[in-house]
Amino acid sequence: MEFIDLKAQQQRLRARIEERICRVLDHGKYIMGPEVFELEEKLANFTGVKHAVSCSSGTDALLMALLALRVVPGDIVFVPAFTFVATAEVLPLIGATPAFVDIDPETWNLDVESLRDAISCVRDEGLGRARGVIAVDLFGLLADYESIHALAEEQGLFVIQDAAQSFGATALGQRAGSNAPIATTSFFPAKPLGCYGDAGAVFTSDDEVAETLRSLRVHGGGRDKYDNVRIGLNGRCDTFQAAVLLEKLEIFEEEIDKRQIVAARYTDSLNGARTLQKIPEGNRSVWAQYSVLSDQRTIDRERLREAGVPTAVYYPKPLHQQDAFRDVALCPVSLSCAEETSRKIFSLPMHAYLGEQDQNRIVEVLFDLSSESEKESKRAG
Ligand SMILES: *Cc1c(COP(=O)(O)O)cnc(C)c1O
Repeated sequence: MEFIDLKAQQQRLRARIEERICRVLDHGKYIMGPEVFELEEKLANFTGVKHAVSCSSGTDALLMALLALRVVPGDIVFVPAFTFVATAEVLPLIGATPAFVDIDPETWNLDVESLRDAISCVRDEGLGRARGVIAVDLFGLLADYESIHALAEEQGLFVIQDAAQSFGATALGQRAGSNAPIATTSFFPAKPLGCYGDAGAVFTSDDEVAETLRSLRVHGGGRDKYDNVRIGLNGRCDTFQAAVLLEKLEIFEEEIDKRQIVAARYTDSLNGARTLQKIPEGNRSVWAQYSVLSDQRTIDRERLREAGVPTAVYYPKPLHQQDAFRDVALCPVSLSCAEETSRKIFSLPMHAYLGEQDQNRIVEVLFDLSSESEKESKRAG
């Protein structure tokens, strides 16, 4: 059994992807070839924003978004403590400071009350210039943008949507990538829409920001290749990856539907037995991960492993406990929910091609576990 089955998808698309790749080999425009622009147009249409600026990764997408918003050394940006390292890492890289915020115990996304407290603390104690917040759509569930925007507006902060895990998700019909003035995503192979290498995108409906992003991704270029108007990076998405993504995008809607079915089967079977991520009404997660909280994670995972079922822990350590952030980040509030979640969480196999039989087996192993441990605790009691 695979944790994320990229082979099943490739089998389905192999001929079409090969044809696309051959076309690139024929025209030879490996950098910024026509597939890159075709992809950007299709991504913008899919998301419902005016501009999709493709780039080299989800991490560079975040970096470009921060540079476009002119985040400078000394600025403070609020980020959830429970996310992939890239969300916070890009800040110290440009001399800015991440201020960690706790997550909501039910959705595991940024807790807006914790954000409010963190902003107050930074302001009251004069810790630096609070500039913005990066909200993360954890495991494919959109953050609570209505509340986040209301607070950010009141406090004069920008909002960046880190949609690396949520591309394809919706809330009240609005697609991930359109929930903040600037949103970023990743096409890393294991993400809901993944290529065969590294790639990402930044989304915005602001013409000026889009132009800045396009300049940033090619060394801060101006009118032509040797005119440099700002400090930028080599942040382009290469033509081969765009070609792969174009074919994968064709079947993406159908895959999103399949993920709903797989997730619903897990939810039906596991509800009550393990703590699940709460999906607020009006939301459709894209289920980048199907995760559960367990009081006996080590036992759960070991039994699944013995039964040939791969699992993973996203994330075993919240970011404020990582050595890398010790001297470059702020912890203005309690991060107890992030800490507790990192102790209990693990993720089950999740992809569009996960069959009902395999899923039943996974659930059976877990249920045997609960009855075993009940027996254990009865014996011990
Ligand atoms: C994967 C991920 C990123 C980084 O994407 P890359 O394409 O791997 O650079 C950023 N933020 C979150 C929340 C992610 O899950």
